[in-house]
Amino acid sequence: MSTGSGHLALVDDLVRRGAIRSERVRAAMLVVDRGDFVPTGERSRAHDDAPVVLKLDADGWPASTISQPTMVALMLEELAPEAGDKVLEIGTASGYNAALLAELVGPTGAVLTVEIDEALADGARRRLAARSHVTVLTGDGRAGHPDAAPYARIIVTAGASSTSPAWTEQLALGGRLVVPLTGEDRRGRCVTYEQTRSGLVERHSMPCGFVPLRGREG
Ligand code: SAH
Repeated sequence: MSTGSGHLALVDDLVRRGAIRSERVRAAMLVVDRGDFVPTGERSRAHDDAPVVLKLDADGWPASTISQPTMVALMLEELAPEAGDKVLEIGTASGYNAALLAELVGPTGAVLTVEIDEALADGARRRLAARSHVTVLTGDGRAGHPDAAPYARIIVTAGASSTSPAWTEQLALGGRLVVPLTGEDRRGRCVTYEQTRSGLVERHSMPCGFVPLRGREG
């Protein structure tokens, strides 16, 4: 399914433009071909640095996308998952980012990813079946997944108006949370927090745009 040179060219381009900074993220992006996660009809655009829409909502707005590769790389660099980490992702969509997380944590780690849309979760489960340390859960990710907490890393890939108390509770001490915040004072900023003894401390932020979280909040 890989279209070879398009895939390599995309990764090279992300390195050249500074979105990929570490050898670890580069290696993961070389292993996981985005072409295996985009819908069949969109394969020609699999290696463009642009989001691909997977599903529209009732009003015709994107409800699910495969994020722009630049954004995926920047967020993974911020999250900096280590081998053996247990990572929680909110917003599975195609499963592309979950596959990258699986590469980064390796077989001694674990990736739990929560998707609110059942059909999308089923599709991701199929695509990720060969990666036994990835679990796709169907549900509202604002509640996190307390059963497997604490997590060394939590990454949210849909826009939230605020951080959910559940994410804070389920993040290990010294752990990182990367979340796109779309509230009034935080319009389209992707924020990196670190868990400290006195709570979450903001470490970094960058501009971004994401489809909104659905569920109780939205
Ligand atoms: N991580 C994806 C991109 C996610 S797009 C990638 O690899 O490219 C955002 C996803 O979040 C959508 O599929 C949407 O259905 C899902 N979503 C929206 N609200 C959610 C919620 N409350 N809980 C879990 N998933 C949610």
